[in-house]
Amino acid sequence: TAITKEYIKEQVKEKNVRFLRLMFTDILGIIKNVEVPITQLDKVLDGEMMFDGSSIEGFVRIQESDMYLKPDFNTWLVFSWETDSSKKGKVARLICDIVNPDGTPFTGDPRTNLKRVLKEAEELGFTDFNLGPEPEFFLFKLNENDEVTENLNDNGGYFDLAPNDLAENCRRDIVLELEDLGFEIEASHHEVAPGQHEIDWKYANAVEACDNIQTFKLIVKTVARKYGLHATFMAKPIFGINGSGMHCNMSLFNENGNAFFDEKGPLQLSETAYKFLAGLMDHAPAFTAITNPTVNSYKRLVPGYEAPVYIAWSGRNRTPMIRVPESRGMSTRLEVRSVDPMTNPYLALAVMLKAGLDGIKRDLKATEPTTDNIYEMDAAELDSLGINSLPGNLLEAVESLKKDDTIIEALGEHIFKNFVATKTLEWDQYKATVSQWEKEQYLHLY
Ligand code: GLN
Ligand code: MG
Ligand code: MG
Ligand code: MG
Repeated sequence: TAITKEYIKEQVKEKNVRFLRLMFTDILGIIKNVEVPITQLDKVLDGEMMFDGSSIEGFVRIQESDMYLKPDFNTWLVFSWETDSSKKGKVARLICDIVNPDGTPFTGDPRTNLKRVLKEAEELGFTDFNLGPEPEFFLFKLNENDEVTENLNDNGGYFDLAPNDLAENCRRDIVLELEDLGFEIEASHHEVAPGQHEIDWKYANAVEACDNIQTFKLIVKTVARKYGLHATFMAKPIFGINGSGMHCNMSLFNENGNAFFDEKGPLQLSETAYKFLAGLMDHAPAFTAITNPTVNSYKRLVPGYEAPVYIAWSGRNRTPMIRVPESRGMSTRLEVRSVDPMTNPYLALAVMLKAGLDGIKRDLKATEPTTDNIYEMDAAELDSLGINSLPGNLLEAVESLKKDDTIIEALGEHIFKNFVATKTLEWDQYKATVSQWEKEQYLHLY
């Protein structure tokens, strides 16, 4: 059921909303928000709120800086916490699309861009592209000056209970807050590494699921702070223990239901599922630049920490990049395990959907599923099976992206150019820094 202007106005009165947060996501995946007092409500609802696009990473050049925020009424949420300063009213948010002064959609807006790619799925007869994400994160302690330390909040492990899991109360509060905001939480547990957690909720269609991821990150960070903790979605904050992934469970629906399910197909998967899978694998080197977008992302994609290294798939085992979870029927899905939570979810879904649709359009054939021993194979064996590695670092990933016209198309010119420019700069800076590791290795020896 769609939310109307009138409903929002009623809610503002009923819940004593005093501030509106207008949220959108920049190319790097960072949530931005403009907060306005409730006196601006009409202007906001009419899409007349202007902001300066030139101040946002990767958006526009100074000369063309005026942008309008067009709120998506269906994203209306009243945060349950009071305004910090006055305790006199509530804060609500609306997620916005970004529109040019002439009213046309701004092609640099990741959310608008995802909607464009979703239209291609519709043209191929699909009604929905769904995502169920599994974001993982770490909790670090804050010190007495509220600065982030490198001390994890506990020594717990997978599914541990208190007293090891000190974050239990914090995590429970996060879950309660999310439930108040309408999330249907399916699981919340301590992950394998100390200080690492995972919270999973019900899948939704692509745009809503991405909105949810952005809201989730905000809530996790906000609640953690109340417990004197810093929540981070950095992919590999600590060397030597697991990093954080964001497994993406994806399915395509058509009028007949789940288009990945076929009772009679091999592993009960449809031809559509196999082609989609083949498309994902074909474009994986290029879309990894988006799904694993930082220098740090590639420190997670190494053997030994439950993160994938090779472009392979399997029906059961958990090591390859793509897995097919056991559930079938309506819940039939492909789980892409390489994605990490630093990704911009709107861009990640745009590139993965495009890759899968391309597999369908080109009738690509999926390779044979890979068995457990993939990590024990040597280069020659991997080669003979045609198994390639994921990109080894950000530079390799960006180079692959530049060569893949399909994935470039999924981003559009504006986002593609800005993304590559930013990431090239990021790599160049990283390349020139001298790390602690180098000093330990070379300072004394040479
Ligand atoms: N943390 C692992 C990763 O980096 C995943 C662990 C798990 O959920 N099985 O992807
Ligand atoms: Mg999980
Ligand atoms: Mg997990
Ligand atoms: Mg998983």
